[in-house]
Amino acid sequence: MSKITNYIAGELRPPSAGEYLDIIEPATGEVYAQVADSTADDVAAAVEAARDAFPQWSHMPAAERSAILTRIADLLEQNAEDLARAESIDTGKPLKLARTVDIPRAVNSFRFFAAAILHAHSESHATDYQAINYTLRRPQGVVGLISPWNLPLYLLSWKVAPAIATGNTAVAKPSEITPVTAHRLAQICMEAGLPSGVLNIVHGTGAKAGASLVEHPDVNTISFTGGTATGEVIARAAAPKFKKIALELGGKNPNIIFADADFDEVIPASLRSSFANQGQVCLCGSRVFVEQQRYDEFVERFVTATRKLKIGDPLEESTDHGAQVSQAQLDKVTYYVELAKDEGGEILCGGRQPDAVSERCKNGYFFEPTVITGLGVECRVNQEEIFGPVVTIMPFESEDQVADYANSTKYGLSASIWTQNLTRAHRLAERIDSGTVWVNCWMLRDLRVPFGGMKSSGVGREGGAEAMRFFTEPKNVCIKI
Ligand code: NAD
Repeated sequence: MSKITNYIAGELRPPSAGEYLDIIEPATGEVYAQVADSTADDVAAAVEAARDAFPQWSHMPAAERSAILTRIADLLEQNAEDLARAESIDTGKPLKLARTVDIPRAVNSFRFFAAAILHAHSESHATDYQAINYTLRRPQGVVGLISPWNLPLYLLSWKVAPAIATGNTAVAKPSEITPVTAHRLAQICMEAGLPSGVLNIVHGTGAKAGASLVEHPDVNTISFTGGTATGEVIARAAAPKFKKIALELGGKNPNIIFADADFDEVIPASLRSSFANQGQVCLCGSRVFVEQQRYDEFVERFVTATRKLKIGDPLEESTDHGAQVSQAQLDKVTYYVELAKDEGGEILCGGRQPDAVSERCKNGYFFEPTVITGLGVECRVNQEEIFGPVVTIMPFESEDQVADYANSTKYGLSASIWTQNLTRAHRLAERIDSGTVWVNCWMLRDLRVPFGGMKSSGVGREGGAEAMRFFTEPKNVCIKI
C-alpha cells in the first residue's frame, strides 16, 4: 500500500515516529493508501528547514521567485488530468468537478501570485514640508498554513502561493483526510526547483501536527481554513503568543431569489450552489429564500431538477453527485436530516442514502441531494452548518424580511441575490453581513478581490492584495527633511 510521507528540507521523509494513518476512498469506503501521522518532532524539523531557507529565499529577486512559481503552475497544468483523478479518488467529488474547478484554480493561484509580486508597489507619504515616510513590506518569516479537505489542492495553493511569493518560507499542514494532492504538489515543487525548505508539508492530525505548528515559537503567522470550532481553538492558542492569524471558517449562506429573477438561470445556478461537491463547499447556499409570489413554482422546478442529478461513481464522466468525504460527514448529514424531521420539516426529495450506485461503490458514503421545506429560520437546521447536500427553502414577503432572515445566523461568509432590479440588489448587498455577495451569479472568483467571512465565518481576508498584505509586515521609516 502506498505511503504518503512528509516533504521537509526539499526531500520526502517518513514521519519520525514511523506511524501512519489510513486514507479511505470515500466512494468505496476502502483504505487505499496511508499518510504520515506526524508529531511535534516532525513539525520542529520542518520549521527548522523553513527557518534555514528564509534568508536566501526572502532576498532572492522577485523575478526569480516568480519564475519558480510559474514553473510550479506549468507543472500542475501539465499534470492536471492526473491531479484531478487523484483529487476525485481522495475526496469523492466528481472527476469533472475536480477537472474544471479545483485543479485549474490551483494552477491559477501560483500563476496569479507569480505575476503579482512583479507588480507590487511600495508607499511613500510626504508630511507637509517636514518629513518623508516610506513603508517597507517585509515577509513574516516562517508561516504556518493549515487547510481543510473539501477543496484540498485549491485551498492549499491559495495559501502557499502568496506566502512563498512574498518571500516567506512555509510549513503546511493539509487535511489528514485528503492528503494526496498535497503530496503531488510536494513532488512538483521538487521538480520545479523550489529551493529546499521554502515549502515544507507535514501531514497528520490536527490535534498533533496541526496544534504543534500553531504552538511552535518560531511560527508567528498562521493562515487557517476549516471549521469555526477549530478556528476558535487556534485563536485561543495563538492569542497569548500574539501570533498573526487569518481564519477562514464555516458558513450558512443565504441564496435569495426575487420574483423578477430569470428562473431559467436561477434553477441551474441554485442547483450548483446547493449541491456542488455534495454540498461541501463553504460558499454553498444552504438556505434558499424565494419571494412568496413565485415560491411554489421555484420549489416545483428546483425539486424536479434535483431529482435529475445523477448520483454515481465519482470517476464516471456522467456523475453529477459523488460521495461525502467520510463516514463522519455522512453521519452528520444523516443526523441533520433526522433533526429536520423532528423540527417539522418536510423532505421533498432525497433524505437518504441511495441504493448502491455501482458494485465498486456499494460501501461508499453517498447521500441523495435533499430539499426540505416547512422550517423556520430560527431552527437548528437553519442555524448550524451542515456541510452536506441538504438545502432548506423558505418563502419571504419583503426586502426587509429577507435581510433579517439572511442575517439571522452567527455566520457571514457569502450570499447570492437573484433579481433584475439592480438598485434593490445594491441596497440589499450592503445590508447583508457577509464577506462576499454575488448578484445574479455564484462562486465567480477574481483573485484580486478580498475574500473572507464576517462574524463566526472568519477573521481577516485572503485574496490578491489582502494576501500580499497578510503575509508581509509593514515597517515605516520617517525621515526629517
Ligand atoms: P477542520 O477544522 O476539522 O480541519 C481543518 C484543518 O485543521 C485540518 O487540516 C485539520 O487537521 C486541522 N486541525 C484540526 N484541529 C486542529 C487544531 N487543534 N490545531 C491546528 N489544526 C487543526 O475542518 P474540515 O472539516 O477539514 O473542513 C470543513 C470546514 O471548513 C467547514 O466548516 C467549512 O465551512 C470550512 N471551510 C471554510 C472555507 C472558507 O474559505 N471560509 C473554505 C473551505 C472550508
